[in-house]
Amino acid sequence: ATVGENVLRTDSTTRHTEALSSAAYLARAARLASTRRTALSTAIAVLGAYSALSLALPSYQGKIIDHIIDGNRRAFALAAQTYLLLMVLQGALRAVSAACFSIVSRSVLYEIRTQLFRAMLRQDIAFFDGTTSGHLSSRLTNDANAMMAPIDASLSSLLYNSVMLVGGIAMCFYTSYALSMLAFVVVGPITTLWQAYSVWSKRLTRRVLAAWAEANAIATEALAHVRTVKAFAAEASETARYVEACAEGLRLGVKDALGYGATTALAGYLDLGTGVLILWYGGLLVLGGGDSLTVGQLIQFQLYWNLMNSAYQALQGLVTSFTRAAAAAEKVFGLVDALPDIDTRLSSSSSSSSLSPVVDWPVRGDLQLDSVEFWYAMRPDKLVLDSLDLAIPANTTCALVGRSGGGKSTIVSMLLRFYDPKSGVVRLDGVDVRTLDVRRYRRRFGVVMQDTPLMARSIKTNIAYGLESEPTLGEVEAAAKKAYAYDFVSAMRDGFDTRVGERGGRLSGGQRQRIAISRVFLRQPKIVLLDEATSALDEESQAAVQKSLDALIARGGSTVVLVAHRLTTVVAADKIAVVDSGRIIEQGTHHSLVSKHDGIYAALVKRQLAKAAQHLDDD
Ligand code: ADP
Repeated sequence: ATVGENVLRTDSTTRHTEALSSAAYLARAARLASTRRTALSTAIAVLGAYSALSLALPSYQGKIIDHIIDGNRRAFALAAQTYLLLMVLQGALRAVSAACFSIVSRSVLYEIRTQLFRAMLRQDIAFFDGTTSGHLSSRLTNDANAMMAPIDASLSSLLYNSVMLVGGIAMCFYTSYALSMLAFVVVGPITTLWQAYSVWSKRLTRRVLAAWAEANAIATEALAHVRTVKAFAAEASETARYVEACAEGLRLGVKDALGYGATTALAGYLDLGTGVLILWYGGLLVLGGGDSLTVGQLIQFQLYWNLMNSAYQALQGLVTSFTRAAAAAEKVFGLVDALPDIDTRLSSSSSSSSLSPVVDWPVRGDLQLDSVEFWYAMRPDKLVLDSLDLAIPANTTCALVGRSGGGKSTIVSMLLRFYDPKSGVVRLDGVDVRTLDVRRYRRRFGVVMQDTPLMARSIKTNIAYGLESEPTLGEVEAAAKKAYAYDFVSAMRDGFDTRVGERGGRLSGGQRQRIAISRVFLRQPKIVLLDEATSALDEESQAAVQKSLDALIARGGSTVVLVAHRLTTVVAADKIAVVDSGRIIEQGTHHSLVSKHDGIYAALVKRQLAKAAQHLDDD
């Protein structure tokens, strides 16, 4: 059985149904932390020494006071000096351990972030159909931070306070058994109260995080499409959407805060009550005379009680903060563990020898879709490819034409293995592509999409994008020349080092396309997939892009599959396939298709010619 089948399916990020319990989360974070062995063991050792010292200090304070009451100057001076020395030492130990813990937690955050990012990029395209970049980046930042926040401050706090709690209780009983028995009666109700809160808080925290992620997604989307927002004067409605989502986050946050305040207040009253009780009963014991309790011992008891009590409260706070972190960790680890279907099929079934995981033969570029059936996970009711058959022999050009929504781009996605067919097979040189290593498979392709969002890096980097070894500037320039991109790039002030804005915003659509075509020239792939851009470009840049595309198609030695919109490209193709409702309804050369009576393609050509003629009349 493949692992991928049991874990997260493609369409949801939080399909990890079994909530990670706080304990499991702690164990997992600890496993990550243990990779920084030296820092962690130093931190723990130093913390141990610090805790032991902290436990010793109150008994010195008690002794000092009893020496004062007894009037024993020498013993008093000695105890006071020792006390001072121990305090200085304690401070130094604390600083060292805090620094070490901080180093460990930062390393863990680094580990989490990098693992998470790797896990994200590993997911199938179908996964990204079901989420937004805003949600994902919020996972990298908000969730990762929320998850790490308690580790940063609280891992050391957890250890320290556990020692203080146990040690403090022991010292309380050691100092006065009677007082201890009385005081601890109060602890019960506080515990119950806090437990109730932490259950409630966990549920609320998950909703708060979800609300902020939603707000983040709205903002990211609006910012990423700021041109669209402005062009449609939609600033107000986008702002309203964002404000609404933030308001929800705030509303839940306020609820969380109020709940926290109320429980804290109640716990505080109980706490003060115990303090009064100790003073009253302890006072009676001291006044009762005998050796049952000295003043110093009463103070010492108070100090141990406070130590124990604040350790206890800190631990309760930790329960809450670990609970909060667990909610975030659930999402983070859920995604880290999510195995994509397409990308892991190999690693999870590597034992099966029937697979040949490597594209290790000289690829000819023979493509074939055999009875391919497909629908998108987001719209399972719509059959997008309906038992589609298509053969594209090596080194030929195949043009896909037909109505929009017919399935042309989906065919291109299937060839790139962005999705796998629900049934049927896609073959490269006769080999089922599902048996091949997907990354090595994709490297055989050169792709030009209709809209080419470039990375916010230099033009040279963009052209060389994805290449395993860095090309020389000469190679990049040669590729750009072939794609008719050289002239406009070198006319820029920084030439090929010019940084393009986010998503290539500083370049025109036609320029971006020519950069994309330069990429293909540089890579020299065996198979070229093109989505011809059309109406989005003005006539001049359209002409430039066409020249560039024609050069790419004429390059020879590769199989070209193109989603075509322009008659001249189509006419030149070796094979034209008319795609409609997920099927190939006609295929053949231009001549064989136009000569067909009642042919769909023939009608299409007629319409286009009529349109062109109309244009001429208009002019
Ligand atoms: P064409 O390229 O011929 O215009 P497409 O392959 O883009 O056609 O689309 C085929 C059908 O699949 C359309 O109905 C479209 O709405 C749907 N579709 C395309 N991409 C997705 C997607 N990512 N999620 C859901 N449905 C999609």
